[in-house]
Amino acid sequence: MSRLVIISNRLPVTINRRDGELHYHPSAGGLATGLNSLDDSYNKLWIGWPGEDITDEWEKESVRTDLAKLKLAPVFLTEREIDLYYEGFSNKTIWPHFHYFTEYTAYNDDMWDAYREVNYKFFQETEKHLREDDLIWVHDYQLMLLPQLIREKFPKASIGFFLHIPFPSYEIFRILPWRKEILEGILGSDQIGFHTFDYMRHFLSAAYRISGHEHKFGRLHIEEREINIDVFPMGIDYEKYAHPDVNAATDRSSGEIRKLHASRKIVLSVDRLDYTKGIPHRIRAFGQFIRNNPEYIGKVNLIMIVVPSRANVDQYQSLKTDVDVLVSQINSEYGTFDWMPIHYYYRSLNFAALTTLYKEADIALITPLRDGMNLVAKEYIAAKEDSKDGVIILSEMAGAVNELSDGALTVNPQSTKEIESALIEALEMPLEEQRSRMITMQDKLKRYDVKHWAATFIKEQHELKDKNRMSN
Ligand code: UDP
Repeated sequence: MSRLVIISNRLPVTINRRDGELHYHPSAGGLATGLNSLDDSYNKLWIGWPGEDITDEWEKESVRTDLAKLKLAPVFLTEREIDLYYEGFSNKTIWPHFHYFTEYTAYNDDMWDAYREVNYKFFQETEKHLREDDLIWVHDYQLMLLPQLIREKFPKASIGFFLHIPFPSYEIFRILPWRKEILEGILGSDQIGFHTFDYMRHFLSAAYRISGHEHKFGRLHIEEREINIDVFPMGIDYEKYAHPDVNAATDRSSGEIRKLHASRKIVLSVDRLDYTKGIPHRIRAFGQFIRNNPEYIGKVNLIMIVVPSRANVDQYQSLKTDVDVLVSQINSEYGTFDWMPIHYYYRSLNFAALTTLYKEADIALITPLRDGMNLVAKEYIAAKEDSKDGVIILSEMAGAVNELSDGALTVNPQSTKEIESALIEALEMPLEEQRSRMITMQDKLKRYDVKHWAATFIKEQHELKDKNRMSN
């Protein structure tokens, strides 16, 4: 069996400096879980940034040695690189642009240069480790130039690339001055994966219109190399959320959540503070729902978990102010002495509290304006494994809607009216209907979990590798 070399911006282990000492923690996120769940016949090596600015050469060496024991190889980034490549080109150019927030796109050549340089730095680290039979899997929008950099030096390498965010329509993509380099960077891969059919379609259209590559059933050829472009919707670790390994009984916040739920219906939303998530729109819609339906006053709470994110970026700071103002307007207007419509928490939760909230919430209100997949939607459904009750209201603009549209109430996140109607429908939905919708969605998520996602991607890449090899 080939070795699997995974390359992503972040390693599955993050380093923090506390009191001068370096501490190692598992990084949050589904990617690590998915890839770690692959069976042991895959020998793995993971290359990425450990998340701390480490400059001292001796310290770098000691981190390198520690991480090597875990089959991890660090790429150290300088403060300037973090600023221009990560917070800059990745999060101020690609992130808004690929989510259709073109008014937020930063067009800055210094950021682009840093993006190219850091992609090259990742290549240099990769090059040190590569063996002939390796299967390489590059992840996400921070490393879109890397597949081609590897291809130039290793023409026979087997390279997969997965984009975890949307790929925008050609009309949006073409606006980027660096569109050709980005496109051709990705096209260095043998296999390119997206969460949804639409993202794949947009990519194929860009490949044709920018570089003239025609495809046939998602396959295109560059010289003698066949490239497979396909849809691989990422799943979750279903069991982890269905039967969480936590003692919710002893967790203080879990007890408080259950107490609150004893007297009221809970509508839950969980997201990072990000303009793509539609948080202000959702708050306004909830306000309108209360205004137009006073019979629910005192009976329903919106619990909003907003996880701090990218706090150095201007748009995130002003979004925080907007959210604060909107929540306090609605709470001050409609709150009573024993009821506050919105419980707003600007922090992340521990796993026990998060899964208790999922289990207790009657409704999950997930209304991003644009979202590559949205794992929270899937986690909420898995957490209902035992009870089978609960309703999910889900934006048409989340990648997850493609798998969940037969069980979720789908809404256009820009429409306060649709969100209001969906809230009423969800609150009034008979238990039997809730269960049948929930079971349909659960069956799907159980089967197509994160392990299935990773295994399918790798299996297809393997088959392509054998095929390309035979034809050479
Ligand atoms: N999450 C978390 N702590 C919290 C709230 C959320 O770890 O307090 C996790 C959540 O379980 C989910 C992830 O953050 O796995 C968010 O992923 P999603 O795809 O919904 O959105 P993203 O933040 O990647 O845009």
